[in-house]
Amino acid sequence: MEEVRVRFAPSPTGYLHIGGLRTAIYNYIYARQKGGKFLLRIEDTDRTRFVEGAMENLVRSLQWSGIEIDEGVTLKDGELTQVGDRGPYIQSQRLKTYEKYVDQLIEEDKAYYCFCSKERLDALREEQKIKGQVPRYDGLCRAISKEEAKERVAQGEDHVVRLKLPHDRDIHFHDIVRGDITINTNEMDDQVLMKSDGFPTYHLAVVVDDHLMGISHIIRGEEWLPSTPKHVYLYEAFGWEQPTYIHLPGVLNENHKKLSKRQGDVSVEDFRGHGYLPEGLVNYLALVGWSPDSNEEIFSMDQLIEAFDPSRIAKAGGVFDVKKLDWVNSHYMKELTNEELLELATPYLADGGITADYIRENREKMLTLMETIKDSLDRVEQVPERSAFLFGEFKVTDEAALGELKSETAPEVLSTMEALLKEMEEMTPERAKTFMKEVQKASGVKGKKLFMPARAAITGVVHGPEMVNILYLIGKDELLRRIAVAKEAAAMA
Ligand code: GLU
Repeated sequence: MEEVRVRFAPSPTGYLHIGGLRTAIYNYIYARQKGGKFLLRIEDTDRTRFVEGAMENLVRSLQWSGIEIDEGVTLKDGELTQVGDRGPYIQSQRLKTYEKYVDQLIEEDKAYYCFCSKERLDALREEQKIKGQVPRYDGLCRAISKEEAKERVAQGEDHVVRLKLPHDRDIHFHDIVRGDITINTNEMDDQVLMKSDGFPTYHLAVVVDDHLMGISHIIRGEEWLPSTPKHVYLYEAFGWEQPTYIHLPGVLNENHKKLSKRQGDVSVEDFRGHGYLPEGLVNYLALVGWSPDSNEEIFSMDQLIEAFDPSRIAKAGGVFDVKKLDWVNSHYMKELTNEELLELATPYLADGGITADYIRENREKMLTLMETIKDSLDRVEQVPERSAFLFGEFKVTDEAALGELKSETAPEVLSTMEALLKEMEEMTPERAKTFMKEVQKASGVKGKKLFMPARAAITGVVHGPEMVNILYLIGKDELLRRIAVAKEAAAMA
């Protein structure tokens, strides 16, 4: 069987869109499943869209996501490099190659020079619009002889090169998701292949590169489906074998529109910034537009590689649901060790004023804190707010908490706590385990009547993490201070 070679071929726009990441994921897991290769090619033929540092950013986002690049553009030791023997893998470095293939098409009368001015093309488009026709080139320059055209090009006249589509020919291709597709050349345009600046258009470059780079399967967004007949014709014109096409449904927002940067977070970096884990983001994205033949929803990259089946890709667009992403991500949050979580949380805590020095000096406590809040987290970004019971300013304003503090049993519970705390040297993790039992014994109060006022007095609210850990984390002196503050708040309420 032929080797599976797939590519992710983004334009360097400055960031990796999560829809792009999903395309990359499908390409990658398909390559891995088939023992093939995953290539990264940079499609930068539109020079007006060039963004500095964009390639590094793309590769970094892919690597962060757990996608390993086998061939093409990659980062090694922080340096952008290209690996593989079918390069270069950056289209702007391949201009000579495109020129050679365009010349071949011209020689074989499968392409022609076009000298029409922008003004003429604009006027033509206007006229066609008014007549209710689909705007397309009328083929005027097809009539110019090859000799005359070459002469005019040699004289330096502005020109482009267009594909010379045969009239009234059905173009057929098969898409794994969409099935058999047929379109007649009469409904197609004589596509520009080479622009006046000497750069190829996407359509020419993509076909030439996919062929020369030995791409077996083209897995890309469905926005490219309308272009595919042109590509298919180009394969035929060159006498090359067509790859297998797999066009992916869109990634949509709640309003079933394309997810766009204007509405908020769409880049992989945005999601990384919110503290999503690569495992969570990859797992969730893989399920937007594809489903396994089981009800399973938690998939590691290895499990995706095992389970992925392109014939189960959906035709309809998939809605990107942040709540579902949170749910999937929370699964991976729970799998983090306390050490891993603390390391990931450090920059977020630092933003909230808990410095890296403080974290280092109070490592044991910080690890217990991570343990205490871990199960309540959807993403790392939430660590500071979930830690607020410890670091935030302590006050009791919560109605329910005040109610508990004014309950009948509260005075006895609080004064017993105070007495026991004053006697102890410090609140060790061991002592924290037995402390509430001690309070129960000494006060004679138990159950909710014991725990609710106790919790209200030391956290200011009636719900929260495990009492044992809270006691240890807050510590003797601060516990005493809080109980005093709570009593006062209750007295004033
Ligand atoms: N450069 C195109 C893009 O930015 C790639 C399309 C394709 O995969 O053929 O999405």
